Amino acid sequence: MEHPSKERTLVILKPDAIQRSLMGEIISRYERLGLKLVGLKMVVPTAEQIEGHYTLDPNWRRVTGEKTIKSYKDRGLTPPSEDPLEITAKILKNLKKYMTAGPVIVMVWEGAHAVELVRKITGGTEPRGAAVGTIRGDFVVDSYIMSDTDDRAVRNLIHGSGSVEEANMEIPHWFEKSELVDYKVSREDVMYNKELGDILP
Ligand code: GDP
Ligand code: MG
Repeated sequence: MEHPSKERTLVILKPDAIQRSLMGEIISRYERLGLKLVGLKMVVPTAEQIEGHYTLDPNWRRVTGEKTIKSYKDRGLTPPSEDPLEITAKILKNLKKYMTAGPVIVMVWEGAHAVELVRKITGGTEPRGAAVGTIRGDFVVDSYIMSDTDDRAVRNLIHGSGSVEEANMEIPHWFEKSELVDYKVSREDVMYNKELGDILP
């Protein structure tokens, strides 16, 4: 088994992150946590790439549709449809429009609990409810009420893999093996080595 410090996750800085000049801020937050950047590129995604990305998990359409219907009902609202697949078709159409509107930055970050910790410091999917101190909580005002009113995707700056299994599908969707770099940074000794090493002379 690979050492847990080798876990990798996929992060996409969505078009609004680039347009709002937040790429440096966001990258520095993952970097200062202690994660290591092992892949990076700027692309203008195609609609096919985006649809492929969101449907890598064959259950995504059903699960996201069901989750969205539940979230309408929890808020005392009537969902636009009772059919999860119809809901997701609309979400996917809006995501394709949003994610292909301009350049995005696709990255792979590596480190212990990379998937979980990126999600934690990125904050919840709906920026309105994202915790204070998270990236979305600190930098975005958007909400589902806003995005649904205007029939568009919620603008939440970032995509981060939802699980290790998702990361393992998403990384090869965006990167060739040769585009990912295996290298060491010296701070890893202090973070992960069993012994702290030769600090004192
Ligand atoms: P993520 O992993 O945090 O991005 O969230 P999901 O994988 O569950 O959803 C992917 C995308 O679907 C989100 O970024 C939103 O654009 C959209 N989405 C998810 N849940 C909802 C919802 O309840 N309402 C609306 N309007 N869009 C949603
Ligand atoms: Mg997701």
